[in-house]
Amino acid sequence: MRTISKTAEMQDAVNREKSLGKTIGFIPTMGFLHQGHLSLVRESLKKADVTVVSIFVNPTQFGPKEDFKDYPRDIHRDTEVLEKEGVDYLFFPGNEEMYPDGYKTYVEVPDLQDKLCGRSRPGHFRGVCTVVLKLFNIVDPDFAYFGQKDAQQAIILKRMAEDLNLKVKVEVLPTVREEDGLALSSRNTYLSQEERRAALVLSRSLDEARQMVENGERDAGRIKNRIKEMIDQEPLTRIEYVKIVDMDDLDPVNEIENEALAALAVFIGKVRLIDNTILRVKE
Ligand code: AMP
Repeated sequence: MRTISKTAEMQDAVNREKSLGKTIGFIPTMGFLHQGHLSLVRESLKKADVTVVSIFVNPTQFGPKEDFKDYPRDIHRDTEVLEKEGVDYLFFPGNEEMYPDGYKTYVEVPDLQDKLCGRSRPGHFRGVCTVVLKLFNIVDPDFAYFGQKDAQQAIILKRMAEDLNLKVKVEVLPTVREEDGLALSSRNTYLSQEERRAALVLSRSLDEARQMVENGERDAGRIKNRIKEMIDQEPLTRIEYVKIVDMDDLDPVNEIENEALAALAVFIGKVRLIDNTILRVKE
């Protein structure tokens, strides 16, 4: 695996691969890699000739009171893990490479960026879209892989790719979970043992929501209330939002007609976790 930290060098490497007729698969990450990230990496290794992973803790997607400084980082372990997987290139730029002095341009997806997580994290998706479009322009991938874990992010990035006529195919892969249901997240390392146990209520409540739909429930309000009730019963939790929304415009739905996204953000102690599931009505 070749680790590259300079934009021009990354672009040269990709151009060389493309001139040999190779397809490029790309996985943007903030590092501290876990099996969720690796599921994306493995899909790329299967589908694309060349796999590029980026590790960049993007300052523009963190609010002033958020955990940019404390975000877990371990580039040595991450490099080893990616090497072992058989990744071809690691792009690991510094802040000054991505946002040099005088940097001014930002990409926004209004409306979608203001819903769900966007309400409490103003500017977050503007930062995400900006960095992902920059990375797309540097890596020029044929395929890019994202996780359903960050459902709103995936929906917004697909919208951006379509609206801006990007050639990259954006693929979204299922959320990888621990055996007990906890969705893998780099931020899980912030949880104490007791908080980790409490956090299991998130996936349990989403399982219950899916079960309700399977049993014929179509009323989104009732499903949402049941999720909230389960989470509220667990000490240490504080709900930021629980919503059942349309998969395209992220607006709340009253009734589950075909499919809808049940999404939530909950504080467990001081740690903010997100999770979601797709509620599908079976024919
Ligand atoms: P991050 O490093 O948190 O920015 O995540 C990088 C990519 O990995 C994003 O596309 C995430 O949605 C994805 N990802 C994070 N956690 C998981 C998970 N548990 N399962 C699947 N994909 C994930």
